[in-house]
Amino acid sequence: MHLLNLTLAEPQHFSLAEKLLLIVLAAASVAGFWRRFGTVLDKILHSKKDAGFRFSPIGKRFGDFVWEVGCQAKVIRQRPLPGLAHALVFWGFCAFALVTLNHFATGLGLGFLNPSGFFGRFYFDLAAGFAVACAVGILGLLVRRFLVRPKWLGKKLSYQSGVIALLIFVLMVTYLASFFVADSAPAARILWWVHTLALLSFLPIIPHTKHLHLVLSPATVFLSRGGFSQIPPLVGDEDFGLVAGTDLTQLVSLQAYSCVECGRCTEHCPAANTGKLLNPKEIILGLRGYLNDLTPASEEPLLGKYNSQEAVFQCTTCGACEFQCPVGIEHLPILVGLRRGAVNTGAWENDYGSKLFLALERGSNSLGLPASDRDKFIAKAGLPLFDETQEYCLWLGCMGGYDPKGREIVADLARVMNYLGASYGVLRKEKCTGDPVRRLGNDLLFQQLAEENLKTLAENKVKRIITICPHCVRTIQEDCKEYGTPPPVEHHSEFLARFAAKLPNASSSSNDQNKKDRVPQVPLLGPGREKIVFHDPCYLGRYRNVYEEPRTVAALAGELVEAPRNHERSFCCGAGGGLAFLGEETGERVSHVRAAELVATGAKTIATACPFCNTMFRDALAGGGENAPQLLDIAQLAARGLPTDPDRAKA
Ligand code: SF4
Ligand code: SF4
Repeated sequence: MHLLNLTLAEPQHFSLAEKLLLIVLAAASVAGFWRRFGTVLDKILHSKKDAGFRFSPIGKRFGDFVWEVGCQAKVIRQRPLPGLAHALVFWGFCAFALVTLNHFATGLGLGFLNPSGFFGRFYFDLAAGFAVACAVGILGLLVRRFLVRPKWLGKKLSYQSGVIALLIFVLMVTYLASFFVADSAPAARILWWVHTLALLSFLPIIPHTKHLHLVLSPATVFLSRGGFSQIPPLVGDEDFGLVAGTDLTQLVSLQAYSCVECGRCTEHCPAANTGKLLNPKEIILGLRGYLNDLTPASEEPLLGKYNSQEAVFQCTTCGACEFQCPVGIEHLPILVGLRRGAVNTGAWENDYGSKLFLALERGSNSLGLPASDRDKFIAKAGLPLFDETQEYCLWLGCMGGYDPKGREIVADLARVMNYLGASYGVLRKEKCTGDPVRRLGNDLLFQQLAEENLKTLAENKVKRIITICPHCVRTIQEDCKEYGTPPPVEHHSEFLARFAAKLPNASSSSNDQNKKDRVPQVPLLGPGREKIVFHDPCYLGRYRNVYEEPRTVAALAGELVEAPRNHERSFCCGAGGGLAFLGEETGERVSHVRAAELVATGAKTIATACPFCNTMFRDALAGGGENAPQLLDIAQLAARGLPTDPDRAKA
């Protein structure tokens, strides 16, 4: 059975004049496309090669490509309705590739799909189904862009988008209408030519508009750096990061031209949402503007006319933009690259930044406190020193070693580890992992800290690290790889979740105690228990994909509720990217916006799993009086149910 028992009508004979006209129009269309696309391609290919880029693992690349491009999974998942509308248009395009080839071939008398043959009938009917879906999808997108007008799409109406949408609609309608006329009818010829003219008008518009993503974004997704927020290594003494056009790499240029201006990055950006100058979409478009006006050989600075230094240093490196981008643009290597350029050339002048750099050059921690303070804390808390025999090296980090609240969290984690009989010890000396300076772009200082820490870990024969700080986890595990091989690092939420069944309040029915690598399922707790809302730290969630483990631990102590933005859509606390050390913010405080959202859930406890989030919310909640919810790390929640004498419990 084919569609309504109708057959696609195609004019069977074209005069020589028609064939010549078709060839001339097609050549003009291709020339119009290439005139712009050739220039773009030239700029991408003449950009600097990406240091350390590898195609392997190729299987993962193909898998991601099929999932993100073919299935449009990310587009749909993160914005279901518009995402589905976009997917319908995309799938329609894919189905129409063969129809379009056959369409032009027919015009030249070389048609290869017979509308009356078995396969031809089947395929044209299938394409008709896609045409209906595509027409519905494009109308939906048109209504959204011109009537609903979400602010993330920008204030200016894009008439180019209107023209493109209209052309796509005409393509679909003329195709469908061809099922309702006879081959020999003049209407069939008119429809054929209208369809042809729409196609030939569409092609040259693509590279001149944001629809260039149709051609480039599949390549952008396929050629991604293969990991979240992968900051590429600097190469040689002359590489200072992204300073001028000569520093733009092929991947950065490709990404700059791939942006579809959807504004998803900006919609989720904590800086853009709190009145700061930073707008991640504009950062990418700024680079595109630079490449349009200049070349990748230009010495003109990237920061200045095209992008603002102030904006670049407002980024918390939360990664929401990179996570959301549907076309594979990697904002973090770009933002950190621009910071590197500014810091390594001395163009960034900031008193707070200079103070932080000095503190880390001269001392051991980002808080600028004497190392002896850490020694005193270790002695007072009775933390065992690491002596190579213990399973875990408990890495304190700057917050765990020097910040009063961070120390409380460490002390409680130690109590829980004692209760569980886990063996651990802390290093005599530790330096900051270099997380804030890495994200702020001070490579020299980061290298120094990374090398010293790797040396200390090797000298102490550390085989496994546990820490309360997701920033330490990320920096040791990923960033330090540039300078050596760090031991595996685990966040305390992963450790605690693994042993959740052994902790007080866990259901005795759980039988997962011995399955070390699985997170035990803790039964939902009944109503009437304390309501707890968990805030996903960016460096644990989006950076490490750890969402359920901290919830498993928090659920031991009460009934979990969710903030409106949770899991991979969680809103930053404002501390990352070194911003915790940079003083006052412009606009609203990110931490206050997030804290208000958490308070609005009605939870009596806000659970955190990062000492930086904890310190930001502590300040934000300070004015809340007696009704403010209490703020506890998941280690503190886990420790709350412990018996006073841990030895009693161990037995
Ligand atoms: S990383 Fe976060 S703060 Fe920075 S631009 Fe992206 S969304 Fe905004
Ligand atoms: S960078 Fe990505 S998410 Fe942001 S506007 Fe461009 S395509 Fe959309």
